[in-house]
Amino acid sequence: MAFPLIQGYEVVIGFETHAQLSTTSKIFSRAATAFGAEPNTQACAVDLALPGTLPVMNRGAVERAIRFGLAIGATIAPRSVFARKHYFYPDLPKGYQISQYEIPVVQGGGVEFFLDGEPRSVRLVRAHLEEDAGKSLHEDFVGMSGIDLNRAGTPLLEIVTEPDMRSSDEAVAYAKELHRLVTWIGICDGNMQEGSFRCDANVSVRRPGAPLGTRREIKNLNSFRFMQQAIDYELRWQIAQLEDGQPIQQATVLFDPDTGETRAMRTKEDAADYRYFPDPDLPPLAIAQDWIDEVRAAMPELPRAMAARFVATHGLPEYDATTLTQSRAMATYFEEVAAACGNPKLASNWIMGEVSRRLNAGDLDIAAAPVAAGQLAALIRRIADGTVSNSAARQVFDALWSGEATDVDAVIAAKGLQQMSDAGALEAIVDQVLAGNAKSIEEFRAGKDKAFNALVGQVMKASRGKANPAQVNEMLRAKLGA
Ligand code: ADP
Ligand code: MG
Repeated sequence: MAFPLIQGYEVVIGFETHAQLSTTSKIFSRAATAFGAEPNTQACAVDLALPGTLPVMNRGAVERAIRFGLAIGATIAPRSVFARKHYFYPDLPKGYQISQYEIPVVQGGGVEFFLDGEPRSVRLVRAHLEEDAGKSLHEDFVGMSGIDLNRAGTPLLEIVTEPDMRSSDEAVAYAKELHRLVTWIGICDGNMQEGSFRCDANVSVRRPGAPLGTRREIKNLNSFRFMQQAIDYELRWQIAQLEDGQPIQQATVLFDPDTGETRAMRTKEDAADYRYFPDPDLPPLAIAQDWIDEVRAAMPELPRAMAARFVATHGLPEYDATTLTQSRAMATYFEEVAAACGNPKLASNWIMGEVSRRLNAGDLDIAAAPVAAGQLAALIRRIADGTVSNSAARQVFDALWSGEATDVDAVIAAKGLQQMSDAGALEAIVDQVLAGNAKSIEEFRAGKDKAFNALVGQVMKASRGKANPAQVNEMLRAKLGA
């Protein structure tokens, strides 16, 4: 794939993503990880770093790291090591963060996705387990800061890529694919507003063929839209700087959504500044092959494999298969509808059309869809067997969605929505429409196809959506001698 140069510069991007693991308790303590609790109600003695406390590894966090490693074709280290990463910050009571440094639990692997219809692959360097820090609160305090340690000790998987991405579009496509993957395998809830999935984008530019340029790292991008804006701004800024003869200094920067700009927060620390060393409180993490095999056996089918299966066995177009596998819940819903109605393409059309439209309008998740898979399947069966037209089916669907009715056949009967099969009744409507639309007839005879469609529309409307559109077409053409 050829990536456009920007003013003769090649773009180089690498990502570090913090995915919060979906365990109910913390990585080294029993305290809860639930979001939104009153400050400091979910921090126990271990999280507060009280003297005499010791960390104990949460098995669920390790299991999720293994699941991730298997999903991306990585090596699961049979032995990995926790390290102390030292820095001073008020929301880090121990004075160091427990992380993994030299030997991470997940090594290598890659994330594959499509960009503008072409397959792309981003190599991963590693994914390691670590704890989150607490949070400093500035807003509700005058002349002071508050400290909330609820987040301290929350399990994170930090996922690090090689500098393989060559445009902001590719970076966003990678981030979306990673997000789909971690939520799909259930290791992270993916809630970006709540900070469960945060990306740091390392961005540099260079002349093609030159060694890597100096990077700046944009911290904590928590929406895909901001991600794109931040990287695009940063690229323009770096290129302007270089064109101006100014060197780029390695730095950590923040994106301000209000101004759309990035600004330097601090010059970058080197690894040496963190004084990493193996944590003497935690033994090396040993993972037996048996455990890996067990986790592998319990892995769900992955989204790309499922999409390929939808194409191969349900005969869906690539586009439908990709859209329907955006989330596992959506894919499951589709499979249930398709199995119950026996018509995968109609199932796909309805889910990508009416269902998605209403979900988006109400900002709802498919899990909250008021129309169950079985109901949609029953409706699709009535379309396929000719009982209702598409437009009448939409009226039935509305009734199901609003909760006004639950049974498809009962709604069809109650609203009199059966497709008109009586040719005589249809003919009466057609004649009536023709009598009242002399102008359209004239236009049609003058060669305007649109006028014909308008007549079909009039008949459909007069029949309250119950006429069979194919039959209406045929009858109109016959009457107009077309
Ligand atoms: P650190 O942890 O100090 O930020 P790493 O060397 O582990 O540093 O790199 C972090 C991320 O930066 C990785 O995703 C890597 O691919 C990316 N990266 C490294 N060098 C560059 C560069 N010159 N341009 C863009 N990204 C880079
Ligand atoms: Mg970094």
